This record gives sequence, C-alpha cells and structure tokens, in this order.
Amino acid sequence: MPLPAKSQSATLTLDTPVQYLRYVGPYVADLLAKRGVKTARDLLYYFPLRYVDRRTLYSVANLPIEKKQTLLATVADMNVRPLGRSRKKVLEILLKDDTGYAKAVFFNFREAAFKKRFPTGTQVTAFGDVTRYGAFKQMAHPELEEWDDEAGAGTGILPFYPLTEGLHQKAARRIVKANLESLLALIEDDPRSVRESGEVAVSLVQALRAVHEPPPDVDLNALNNQTSVFHQRIVYDEFFFFELAMIARRAAMERGCAAVIKPLGELAGRVREKLPFKLTEGQESALAEISADFASGLPMNRLLQGDVGCGKTLVAFLSALWAIEAGGQAAIMVPTEILAEQHFKNLVRFEIDAGFRMELLTSATPDKKRTAILEGLASGEINLVVGTHALITPDVAFKNLVYVVVDEQHRFGVVQRAQLRAKASDRKSEPHVLFMTATPIPRTLSMSFYGDLYVSIIAHRPEGRKPITTRVIYEKKRPQAYTFVQGELKKGRQAYFIYPLVEESEKLDLKNATLMHAELTKEFAGYGVGLLHGRMKSAEKESVMGRFKSGELSVLVATTVVEVGVDVPNASVIVIEHAERFGLSQLHQLRGRVGRGAEQSHCVLMAGYAQSEESRFRLRVMEESNDGFFIAEEDLKLRGPGDFLGTKQSGLPDFHLAHLVRDGHLLQVARKRAEEILHADPALSAATNAQMRLILHTRWRDRLDLAKA
Ligand code: ADP
Ligand code: MG
Repeated sequence: MPLPAKSQSATLTLDTPVQYLRYVGPYVADLLAKRGVKTARDLLYYFPLRYVDRRTLYSVANLPIEKKQTLLATVADMNVRPLGRSRKKVLEILLKDDTGYAKAVFFNFREAAFKKRFPTGTQVTAFGDVTRYGAFKQMAHPELEEWDDEAGAGTGILPFYPLTEGLHQKAARRIVKANLESLLALIEDDPRSVRESGEVAVSLVQALRAVHEPPPDVDLNALNNQTSVFHQRIVYDEFFFFELAMIARRAAMERGCAAVIKPLGELAGRVREKLPFKLTEGQESALAEISADFASGLPMNRLLQGDVGCGKTLVAFLSALWAIEAGGQAAIMVPTEILAEQHFKNLVRFEIDAGFRMELLTSATPDKKRTAILEGLASGEINLVVGTHALITPDVAFKNLVYVVVDEQHRFGVVQRAQLRAKASDRKSEPHVLFMTATPIPRTLSMSFYGDLYVSIIAHRPEGRKPITTRVIYEKKRPQAYTFVQGELKKGRQAYFIYPLVEESEKLDLKNATLMHAELTKEFAGYGVGLLHGRMKSAEKESVMGRFKSGELSVLVATTVVEVGVDVPNASVIVIEHAERFGLSQLHQLRGRVGRGAEQSHCVLMAGYAQSEESRFRLRVMEESNDGFFIAEEDLKLRGPGDFLGTKQSGLPDFHLAHLVRDGHLLQVARKRAEEILHADPALSAATNAQMRLILHTRWRDRLDLAKA
C-alpha cells in the first residue's frame, strides 16, 4: 500500500507536532498525546513496553503444545455458549487452515467487538499458550490480530506499544513504522559519544531504530527488560547530556562572584542563647560549610538534605542572620502559606533586635501591606522576608539580596528557583543559595543527580527523639484507632487525621474530610476538633493552624496541605486515612508531622481492603522503617525516577527511558565522561565538540537555565 502523499518532508523537524506525521491526524494525535507523544521527537521516544517473538508462524498441524506460540489461520466460525452450568459464558472462535482446526476461547469478551473485528474469513495471527482440549488444540485469551500480508504485520519480533482507549496496537505500530526512517534522519547523533559510550557502542540512530524494529538476532529478554544494548545506548545519551548540562551550569556559577559574608555571629549568637536545646552535630557542620561558602567570594549553591524533623529550618535562620548582619537582605521561599506563616512566627518569637525588620509575603498579603513590603524590600529597610511564590512575582525587587533559601525545594520548579535567584543577580554578583529538602535522594545517586550543587547532609535527628511507632489498622478495627487517639488526648497531646486529596476526585474527598470532621467532633467530644484544607480562605487557614498550635484545638482534620514543614511538637499521633493511596515518600513526609518533641509519637495507617500488592508492600515498609533514606530507596525502586521526584515539581528532567536505579551505573559513566570532556574544553568550543555543544543547547537550554553557561 503506498504511503499517503503528504508533502511534509520539506518542513519536518523533530519539533513538528505529531499530528502532521503519516497516519496521524488530529484525532489520533489526541490519543497519542495521552501517552506523552506530542512531537515527532516524542514518537521516536515512544518506547514499546514489551516485545513478543513471532518469528515463527505455525499451521494448525505444526502448532506445538507449548507456551507463547503463534498460529496463522482463518476465522471459520464464532459462537457464544454457556460455560458449564454457570451463568458465565465463553466465546469460542474456530480457526482453520489447510491442515485442520483449532480453537481460541475467551471468558471475558465483548461479542459485538469481536464479530466486527474478526468476521468469518478473516485471516489472523493468534499468539498465546497452546493446550490440548478434547480433539482440538486450544488457546485461551490469545492475542488476536488481523493478518496483513503486505505489511507483514504480525511476524518477527513485535513491539507492543503503550496504548490508550481508542488507540489500537496495530495503528500504533503502523504509525511508528511509517515515520521511523524520516525521523531518524533528523536525529542529532554525536559520533564522539558513540565511541565514548564504550560498551554500548552503537549509534543513537541505530539504537532508536532497533527498539522499534528489533533486528532478528536480538536477545529478547534484554529487550523486554529494557536492558538491551540499544536501550542502554539511549539511556546513556539521556544521562550524558543531562550531566553535561549540570556540570556546565555549575561551572558557569562558579565563574560568578558573590558578596563576601564574614559571619560575625552576634545576632545568631543571641538567638542560640534563647534556644532550649543544643544544635546537633549535623546542624553545626552544615552551618560550618555554609559559613565557608559565604566567605569564599563565590556564590554558594548548596543543597541541605536531612530527614523530616532534623532541624533544617534553624540552619536557614541562623545563616540568614549572618547575611543580614553583613548588611545584606535574605529571603526564604517556602511552598505553602501555612509554612510561610509558621516560619515567620517562629522568627518573631526570637525577638531578635530592634532595627531588624522582617516581613511575611504571600498571595494572601493584603494589597496595602503588600505595597509597603515591596517598598521596604526595594529600599533595603526590610532585612528578611519569608514568603511563598509571591516572592517571585515581577514587581518584587530587592535592594541588596545576598542570600536566598528555598525550603522544600522539590516543590518548586527550576524556573521558579531561577526567578528568585535572578532577583539578586546583577552584572556584578550572584546570591548565595541554599536549597533544603527532606526528600532524600539515595546517597549513591545524589552526587550525580544534583551535579550542579554541593550537598550538606544532616544525618541525625536531635537527641532524645524516640522513633515513631507505626501501625496499619484495617477499617474494621477503626474503633481501636479512636481509642488509641483518645488515650493520647487524655495525656494532653494532640492528633492529626489526614485525608488524601486527589485532584480527580477533589470534591468527593473534600466532602469526606468534612464528614470526617463532623464524625470526629462527636467522637472526641470535649476536645477541640478543627478542619483544614487548601480551599479555605487564608485567614481561616491561619486561624485554624494558630488554634492547633496553641493547643486550643486538640485534633486537626486536614488534607495534605500539612504535608510539608508543619511543626507542632506537642502533636504525638497522626492517623492517615486511606493510607494505601499514598506513595512511600509522601507517607514518610506526613508521618514526619509527629515525633518532633521528646514524647513517644505514633503513626496509624488506616487501610482499606482494596489493596494492590504494591500498596501492601508500601505499608509494610512504613511499619518497619523510620529511615527516610531507606524509604526513598524503596520508593525509587517502586516507581520511576520521574514519579519519585515529581518531575514537574523537582524541575528535574523527565528521562524517556533512563531509570535511576536500574541504570545507575550508566549515570556514573556518563558523569565521568561529561566531566572529562568539560575539563578539557570548558566552553565546548573545540571543533570536535561543536556537535555536542549544539545538542546540549537544543535539548537543555530552556529547561536548565543554561543561558548563563
Ligand atoms: P525539618 O528539618 O523537617 O524542617 P524543623 O526545622 O521543622 O525540621 O525542626 C523540627 C523541630 O525540631 C522543631 O520543633 C525545631 O524547633 C526542633 N529542633 C531543631 N533543632 C533542634 C535541636 N538541635 N534539638 C532539639 N530540637 C530541635
Ligand atoms: Mg522543614
């Protein structure tokens, strides 16, 4: 069949919307978009989920009674009959060829769809496990496909693409096949990186071709595990340019200069005197590292990593005071209003000094107040500002911002972080930046992954904290959970009840949280029970949070708005409803709302019955471990890195194929190569590196803020 004549070649680029490719129109383009395929490039990176071996097609007589065989035959008849004496039914398709008859049977089926797709006389391939049933060879639930003589569809090693309602396997294959070569012709392939990839010495073009159209001698297992040399080549490519971008960016930053801050420590000292505790070793060493960076004249780019509750906030405060004392301004950006409010109140509590002015800026700040704050920031009168995204709106300007802290940094995108940084940059200097996170990247990967940052780790929580006990309780035993919470309340402690809030069912979930609030108000009569969710007005949120913090409310029913940062040390129990719906890292974050004081704290995971294997595993991990790093490793194994890091939130790239755990070794190799190359040629200005430089820029410029590099 000739390809439809579309004059596309003249203008085709890798950025061409997929809609304009062969066999794709607006309708199919929408379907592909659901699978993340929006551009021509995406189509090349639309990887099969698995492959099946249909190199050998059998006739009925020759068909072996074994697993995973393919039969080529014709539909002779199709019948639905009752299954034994039950009310269930079975669809039976009689298949024939010159050598005899065989049967395909289906226990789950839509009769009309089958009849329409496979009318009598249709030649099909049936792929599946073959058994003998009575006189016939039989296949139960085989993959049936119309045989297409010309395209040879249905033979060889066949890719199975991820589909979506309305998009059929056959269509997916046809689209890729028809466009593959013209798209491969556009791929930027750096011949040098082929040699450098060593063990995976095939070109990117070869690799991309092979994953869609596997050569006949390929190792099927490797293909299915996505560990074939072709897969590895593509992964290497993704890692290599990612690392190149990260290292280039770090180098660019290191060429900048920043305010030299010699920590006097007078203000900070006064605050430390007021603390009822001593800083932990981890906090001290993080401060020492920051202090060294401050004094260096180079802009600091540091990631402060530490499990929930280890006391990162204080490190940020104290170092901010150094910057202020040296005559600069500091800004702390946090992801939620609730957290901004909390940090701010904390600071106020220290009653640091007259003449020291700090403010809170969120989207809830009233206009008049906001205007005053903007003036104060521009004139330099305000020394420290704590805020949310509101800090990065264009009209916010600083007189002399030298220090930027981004708390819960994984909640912000690269662009947002860069915007805050930009508020401090002028032609002469860059700010010092501290990123803080409690979402630990496994140690083995953090160096490579945060290739553009230096990392400080607070390894231990303050002394005297007891590990949180965690228990899964099933719905049936709900009263037990209530009795337990009741006991804690009697001791004067406080409790959280957390409700999942999923976007798709937000209304329903909110209703649930509201109902829960009513139920718990009755259950814990005599105690204050508050409700907190993201849809409430800021003033309301603030008031509820304030009443919980002061102890007026004993129980807080909340959605995940309290997921990060919230600190109420007297709360000793957290009940997480529908715990099976949460991911591991999120559960760990939520659990971190308790265990912040000296008291023994508890986490109750309320679980429904409809659980997958995976969710049971997650709950078990939670019961067994309190270690954020361990939990992160497990989480990373369960989900891809994209999910794990919440790509959009972390601003880190969404690798098409690369998987941080499975492909970790290639990440290290890629990083080493990238370092060597940039070491020899920092600006990639050598002629031999021209192609590499081009690729780097086309792929990464926007996403990694490479403009400076
Ligand atoms: P995170 O690292 O999760 O942001 P926070 O900064 O919110 O943790 O600190 C958690 C709690 O621990 C706070 O109540 C804080 O006052 C307290 N804290 C911080 N440092 C110490 C310390 N060295 N000893 C005891 N408690 C501390
Ligand atoms: Mg925090």
